[in-house]
Amino acid sequence: MKPETLVAQALHAIDQQTGDIVPPIQLATTYARDDQYALRGPMYARDENPIFRTVEQVLARLEGGTSALVFPSGMAAATAAIRACVKPGDHVIAPRVGYFAVRNWVQRFGARWGVHVETVDTTNLDAVRGALRPGKTKLVWFETPANPTWDVTDIAAICELAHAAGARVGVDSTCATPVLTRPLELGADLVMHSATKYLGGHSDVLAGALITRADDDVWAEAKLIRHDEGPMLGPVEAYLLLRGMRTLYVRVEKQCQTAMAIAQRLSGMCDVLYPGLPSHPQHATAARQMHGGFGGMLSIQTGGGADRALAVVKKLRVWVPATSLGGVESLVEHRASVEGPNSPTPADLLRLSVGLEHADDLFDDLAAALR
Ligand SMILES: *Cc1c(COP(=O)(O)O)cnc(C)c1O
Repeated sequence: MKPETLVAQALHAIDQQTGDIVPPIQLATTYARDDQYALRGPMYARDENPIFRTVEQVLARLEGGTSALVFPSGMAAATAAIRACVKPGDHVIAPRVGYFAVRNWVQRFGARWGVHVETVDTTNLDAVRGALRPGKTKLVWFETPANPTWDVTDIAAICELAHAAGARVGVDSTCATPVLTRPLELGADLVMHSATKYLGGHSDVLAGALITRADDDVWAEAKLIRHDEGPMLGPVEAYLLLRGMRTLYVRVEKQCQTAMAIAQRLSGMCDVLYPGLPSHPQHATAARQMHGGFGGMLSIQTGGGADRALAVVKKLRVWVPATSLGGVESLVEHRASVEGPNSPTPADLLRLSVGLEHADDLFDDLAAALR
């Protein structure tokens, strides 16, 4: 069956006793043994809860992986994935452009634990080829399309280079979503999502996910990190995530259409960064790698520095000025303000997360504010 069908029905998860077509939220943290002192199902809630299993099975099917793990945030998933791949002395390639908190964390982690973290422009295959140290590089990690300029990295090409050098490839696919790109099918070893964004989709649950291609030693380590350190999603959050994921395909398809329409209409008015526009530097890669759309995220550069960008934000009436992305309501954010003085993000850049409002209302609001 197609992923749309599997996710809409949450794998046809119907309760055998009651016929519930929605899995119940089970809050128990522990489970009674039977008169033979045997467990009937889970033992303890740090390891499992019936709803986690359903969520993880849906995620594994959506990404075409063998297994998935849920986490209480995208950061918990990303840090578990990266740590599972490396030991002190190893070399890691990290992206030049990408989600700020991950880029910051990997630098601090590397400095503290003796892991050589090298920042590379992963859209440049020659740069990646030059940075790989066969036998030493254990991981190439990147995000595509990447915050906040939506740089697109060629997953298949990077996998070929990295695997030849003995390195694994981990992809933060939060903004592509499994609707548009399935990195495991292009050769990646691990896929990570901030499920807080498109998977949850309603700005009401913080969650993360990892999906693996192989049930290997790195996956065993990722499972141990979650078991030993306890970054476990709560059952209510797991329920909300599953509920949100059922509408993933319709949301993302609509958000892609609206984002494309807005990107095209804004093009005459200011600089627009969107992988769907032929002017985007990696448009050709995006067209090959992303199916059915180019995502719901775009950025604009207003010109005139931070003052002008913030003045535009103040005039908006439809777009909500807030961080995060991937929800049903459109958000605008001035990334340089959030990232602080060492931010590499252009001062006049506004990041736009397109929701489910009418494209005309979203465009008219921006056009009036830019005028
Ligand atoms: C939000 C985000 C993260 C971090 O996820 P949290 O759920 O906020 O911990 C990581 N990567 C990307 C691309 C994100 O957008």
